[in-house]
Amino acid sequence: MKAMVLNKICSLKENKNPLELVNLPDPVPGEKEILVNVSACGVCHTELDEIEGRTPPPRFPVVLGHEVVGRVEKAGSKANKFKIGDRVGIGWICSACGKCKFCLEGNENLCENFKATGRDANGGYAEYTTVLEDFAYKIPDVFSDSEAAPFLCAGAIGYRSLRLTGIKDGQNLGLTGFGASAHLVLKMTTHKYPNSKVFVFARSEKERDFAKELGAVWAGDTEEESPEKLDCVIDTTPAWKPIVEALKNLKSGGRLVINAIRKEDVDKEYLLKIDYPVHLWLEKEIKSVANVASRDVSEFLELAAEIAIKPEVQEFGLEEANKALVELKERKIRGAKVLRID
Ligand SMILES: [Zn+2]
Ligand SMILES: [Zn+2]
Repeated sequence: MKAMVLNKICSLKENKNPLELVNLPDPVPGEKEILVNVSACGVCHTELDEIEGRTPPPRFPVVLGHEVVGRVEKAGSKANKFKIGDRVGIGWICSACGKCKFCLEGNENLCENFKATGRDANGGYAEYTTVLEDFAYKIPDVFSDSEAAPFLCAGAIGYRSLRLTGIKDGQNLGLTGFGASAHLVLKMTTHKYPNSKVFVFARSEKERDFAKELGAVWAGDTEEESPEKLDCVIDTTPAWKPIVEALKNLKSGGRLVINAIRKEDVDKEYLLKIDYPVHLWLEKEIKSVANVASRDVSEFLELAAEIAIKPEVQEFGLEEANKALVELKERKIRGAKVLRID
């Protein structure tokens, strides 16, 4: 099969072609696994973190990609959840121990043995991939393959982030950064919490205009003050400045949820600007979101179908994966980037 593989950690600034197109043997599903003929795979910011070593894969070469949509081609001898030809999705989580406290309470994203698709196991930047059937999800018919791809990570983790904010209808939500996940959160919020107002902080004017098009009541630059104080904020940026700046806009007792697997170090000194009375006092909280549990993926897919969320997608060929990654790094973003694999 054709696959785009990562052979080693490198800097995307110096190497614009970190992935190499190769031919690999078709993967063979294990007993409880299915073989998926991949048709679309979303491109996620986490791939940049893997390529640049912030969350490094344990072995090379590795096939990246954890927003996978395809059809079941073959099933292992003990896999019986899906029929051949079923359309399924695979997200960031591909296995966990299933026995620890976290697994038993449905937070297997916190399991010590959490394994990630496209990092700890080969992912979807390829014609085929395998996955444990328990970590594959049926894709609702209303979505095309490309539309469904970003749901598997950006959507699912956006859903978890929104849940962790504890938002109630009518409360103000802030979003710092406006990429694939944030734009889905905005769509989710306007449907689930129709009386809530969404305020977006983004560096680029294009992203701010896009946010307003999608229903944000206000969009401003990172350091701006929002016209109203916010009950909660979700940060989806790789930087520190947006966090410090967002804290000043929180109400007393407000919560900032950081939805990022790793932060980049470039502006880390910005944290020294934290002024306790302005940014933290009055019981403001900071919480991170770690990965996704399988219920986040399945619940979000149901919600997405129910409210007919249509993500904005921009398609690339499998061979154009490097181009898509570099554009993501350079923040040329409008909605979600998806590789089409035919
Ligand atoms: Zn992702
Ligand atoms: Zn566990």
